[in-house]
Amino acid sequence: ERTTQRTDRDVSVELRDVTKTFTEEDGSTVVAVEDLDLTIYDGEFVVIVGPSGCGKTTTLRMIAGLEEPTGGDIVIEGRDVKGLDPRERDIAMVFQNYALYPHKTVHDNIAFPLQIRKYPDEEVEQRVQEVAESLDIPGLLDRRPSDLSGGQQQRVALGRAIVRDPAVFLFDEPLSNLDAKLRIEMRTELNKLHDRVGKTSVYVTHDQVEAMTLSDRVVVLDDGQLQQFAPPQELYNAPANKFVAGFIGEPPMNFFTARVEERGGEWWVVSDAFDLRLPDEHDAKLREWTGDLGNAEFGVRPEHLFDVAVQGDPGEGATFDVLVKVIEPMGPHMDVTVAPVDRPDDEDAEFTARVSNESDVSIGGRVTLGVELDKAHLFDGRTGENVL
Ligand code: ATP
Repeated sequence: ERTTQRTDRDVSVELRDVTKTFTEEDGSTVVAVEDLDLTIYDGEFVVIVGPSGCGKTTTLRMIAGLEEPTGGDIVIEGRDVKGLDPRERDIAMVFQNYALYPHKTVHDNIAFPLQIRKYPDEEVEQRVQEVAESLDIPGLLDRRPSDLSGGQQQRVALGRAIVRDPAVFLFDEPLSNLDAKLRIEMRTELNKLHDRVGKTSVYVTHDQVEAMTLSDRVVVLDDGQLQQFAPPQELYNAPANKFVAGFIGEPPMNFFTARVEERGGEWWVVSDAFDLRLPDEHDAKLREWTGDLGNAEFGVRPEHLFDVAVQGDPGEGATFDVLVKVIEPMGPHMDVTVAPVDRPDDEDAEFTARVSNESDVSIGGRVTLGVELDKAHLFDGRTGENVL
């Protein structure tokens, strides 16, 4: 449904084979972004995530015109922006350190981008009022930034960015200086704002909850390279590789070094901790897989493991016993750190199960875990690619 819709939509921002290399003082080079292709559609909210140093900010700065690509092209609204200044790119930026003018009122801070572009006074007034209302700050227009809370200051910074009606909004960790509660509040605010304004937005964060909740699609980068570009639910359900699988989800997916065996037409995955029978519907994919059956990584999310004593026995090949090491009650469920029964003291073999809060687990005790095998994944041990 989404895909057919997308083909009719206009492209807003396009990165074609974009590479950025930095040269250090000693002459060595750092490849910050490599051969990146991205097509972002009009009105989409795209979030870029990845570990520290993966190239998120560099990508955003290249779109903004604060950094020129070493190779490749960037096209905004049909225009190749090579050599164009940030001001010539029809973009607005909101950064982590939203520098408001301290001596100006909220009103004048928001009005400023219009005034320097010589908008008529009447239009300035009208737009400032509209923006203030859409951000729920009309009562603050006469105050100065120092008399505002962090969240209110951030709203003003947003207001200053959206007052101008640019083609694209660029955000670089705009919520990272706020405390946890305000972050959530502003996240909801941004979501509402995007629903209302519907502007193309590119948003950098290392907070995966922000990525999942704000985005239409997420760009996952690792070491300057695109790992996956997909809607958030798809990243969770169908990660392209082991990196994405481990990066998206909290607590993270558990990985087990394993081998795959065919036993009389049945497919089994075997590790130090278990023998599990893979669902029959995977047969075709497993036969197609050209990798080494003896070199696989089995991945299962903590929430796809359960306590058989509470939720029922799924039958042979879908359960295994473990020893309980740590119990963390979370309210609706418990996160338990467990170890394979024959490796009780090997910390490297420990993993996490998210079990029902009715589960009668005790530290040092044994528990039988069931596995939702249709939701588990198998990765090629050599390439990390998703096989199942
Ligand atoms: P973080 O989450 O820590 O902000 P990031 O994903 O935004 O990281 P970038 O800031 O884009 O990562 O950096 C990507 C790589 O490029 C890093 O290895 C970084 O050290 C390097 N880099 C970035 N800017 C420069 C620069 N001006 N000179 C040299 N190297 C740079």
